Amino acid sequence: TNTKVTVLGLGAMGAALASALVRAGHPTTVWNRSPGKADALVGLGATAADSAADAVTAADVVVACLLDAASVHEVLDPVADLLTGRTLVNVTTTTPEQSREIAGWAAAHGVAYLDGGIMAVPHMIGQPGSSILYSGSQAAFEQYRPLLDLWGESAYFGEDAGTAPLYDLALLAGMYVMFAGFLHGAAMVADAGVSATEFAKRAAPWLSAMTGELAGFATVVDGGDYTVPGQQSLEFSDLGDMVDASAAQGISTEVVGMVQALIRRQVDAGHGKEGFARIYESIKQPV
Ligand code: NDP
Repeated sequence: TNTKVTVLGLGAMGAALASALVRAGHPTTVWNRSPGKADALVGLGATAADSAADAVTAADVVVACLLDAASVHEVLDPVADLLTGRTLVNVTTTTPEQSREIAGWAAAHGVAYLDGGIMAVPHMIGQPGSSILYSGSQAAFEQYRPLLDLWGESAYFGEDAGTAPLYDLALLAGMYVMFAGFLHGAAMVADAGVSATEFAKRAAPWLSAMTGELAGFATVVDGGDYTVPGQQSLEFSDLGDMVDASAAQGISTEVVGMVQALIRRQVDAGHGKEGFARIYESIKQPV
């Protein structure tokens, strides 16, 4: 716990990360572009730095939790030389390409670089269910693992800094499409007088139960044989009734129509008797 850490960016997430470090007894320096955000952390025992330069030189490990890739460069470019020899853990959300670019920038300045994708919301930091995906310097990951573990379960995905953000976005893709499906369902039943609150009470356990299907789809995809028995066929899953019922309610069919289009492309190519997992092939080969 004697690793000196600096957190740059005290938004909702940066403040949560810094708080976990201070509570664990790490000497923690904090900095934020706009004033006032450090006060609560100073109350817990953190030290507020007046400038990003002072913040960087106070630490072995510099954590950046800013808005986006542009803000990372805006804050770090002027202090690049001060970062040399230290470790940068960038948990700002960036695209894989942006993470690789920042990793290259760090390497050019002699900075050990670890990119992190946070799979949690601020109040979950340090609590069960929080995980953070990392890629970049394995040496940095191993050296500072106890510190990283304070935030949640730490997972490492290799030296390519772009892998953690790719994995992060892939998980978010699953989340957003599920959320959109839930909201579509809520819109379908609205005319029947069912509130979204009431619908959510049934949708949550239903969707949780359905996550049990993911492993089966994955086995089929990895096996590369969509004809293995026991699957629900693409013909069976046409979604025609769902699309028609949505249209009859006078609501948009975009959400369910998107899935139907992926199904129909495979059916049209002659794979109607094969399993639903085959829409993976529609996704892999865009039209
Ligand atoms: P906030 O909007 O609460 O905070 C943004 C922070 O970035 C503030 O400290 C802000 O400083 C700073 N900032 C923005 N632009 C600049 C700039 N040009 N120069 C210096 N500082 C800048 O966001 P969060 O804390 O919620 O998120 C931070 C990062 O964590 C984001 O990349 C986000 O995607 C990621 N994340 C957040 C999650 C969440 O649930 N909140 C979940 C997973 C990842 P100032 O106060 O001066 O505006």
